Amino acid sequence: MSVVTKHQPDTTPAQARSQTRRHSIGVRIGNVRIGGGAPVVVQSMTNTDTSDVTGTARQVAALARAGSELVRVTVNTREAAAAVPHIRERLDMMGVSVPLIGDFHYNGHQLLEAEPACAEALAKYRINPGNVGFGKKKDSQFGAIIDKALTYGKPVRIGANWGSLDQSLVAALMDENHARPEPWDAAHVAREALIRSALDSAARAEELGLGRDRIILSAKVSGVQELIAVYRDLAARSDYALHLGLTEAGMGSKGIVASSAALAVLLQEGIGDTIRISLTPEPGQPRTDEVVVAQELLQTMGLRAFTPMVTACPGCGRTTSTVFQELAKAVQGHVRAKMPEWRVKYDGVENLTLAVMGCVVNGPGESKHADIGISLPGTGEAPSAPVFIDGKKTVTLRGEGIAVEFIGIVENYIATHYASRGD
Ligand code: SF4
Repeated sequence: MSVVTKHQPDTTPAQARSQTRRHSIGVRIGNVRIGGGAPVVVQSMTNTDTSDVTGTARQVAALARAGSELVRVTVNTREAAAAVPHIRERLDMMGVSVPLIGDFHYNGHQLLEAEPACAEALAKYRINPGNVGFGKKKDSQFGAIIDKALTYGKPVRIGANWGSLDQSLVAALMDENHARPEPWDAAHVAREALIRSALDSAARAEELGLGRDRIILSAKVSGVQELIAVYRDLAARSDYALHLGLTEAGMGSKGIVASSAALAVLLQEGIGDTIRISLTPEPGQPRTDEVVVAQELLQTMGLRAFTPMVTACPGCGRTTSTVFQELAKAVQGHVRAKMPEWRVKYDGVENLTLAVMGCVVNGPGESKHADIGISLPGTGEAPSAPVFIDGKKTVTLRGEGIAVEFIGIVENYIATHYASRGD
């Protein structure tokens, strides 16, 4: 079979945008690089009980197969910490190499000391400076975790959070603020406390010997405008790699819209080296949805390509039958289902573009812009669906089998236009 390898333009919009990204220090987490000019990394977090080795390994694998490049697990008890190396082993046996990140609050210093195999199996430790310790214990417990990071050669994320802000720091900044000739408002002081919590902790970690190439920062809040303000400030005041995410984004469309609105503004400004979309899953909804949203956000912004994009019109009064919706759904579902196989087999297949359009108004035009497009007949139009390949009209499909035939055309195009990775 002859293969016509697809050529990309010399500089794609994605590359052009990536050249305008803020320069951050690169951090290596297992086989994944964050910051330092690397593409923005997608990560996610499990919601299983980490002491359940089978259930957690299964969910980590599902998240990784959906495209999560790092997966974080809660490490909150001795049982959870003891389970981590077994989860790692189970994943390795399944052929899933995704790095595991341990999420620690309150007792991370104790768990890492008590379970050295956990400390070794994790690829990164997340520390919350707001609850790593209180009063006199704060410095020593923070130092104990950094000491483990040094011993085991691991990076850390210093992740400050609006909901667990260091109250002693807030109080100190309030006092400082009262002394200002023109005091800031309370929201500004709280933002400063969040940023200082992250930056001061990072400086402390450096004093203890951890390199800047082992430190990632985050400062999460749940409001869109606050998140944008916090990260602009954080990015301007440091060159640490930044983990970006709107915390407690919420459920369904609210969570997706809020996260996308906040992250899109920052990513467009070159801020953010790794992202997590913190969706509250609706009952029965797969955990992997947060990975799909993160990928779609990066891909629709032209920052990365993960899976062939299907452009579909919204439909209107010109599409009174359900054929158009059914075809769009079938094509989208087929692409998502086949992508794990295509990704392994075909180099660059994620850049394929498809169009499924409802009628003659925008159908042919949009279809010509895609690699492969189909323009379905609207109400009153002749019952035929022209297919466009690389901008040229090729075949016209008719009848019940349009979906199967169109998907066959897509499969054939991929096999003949993308170089096999084995070649
Ligand atoms: S392409 Fe046709 S069916 Fe689709 S939205 Fe436009 S007018 Fe409506």
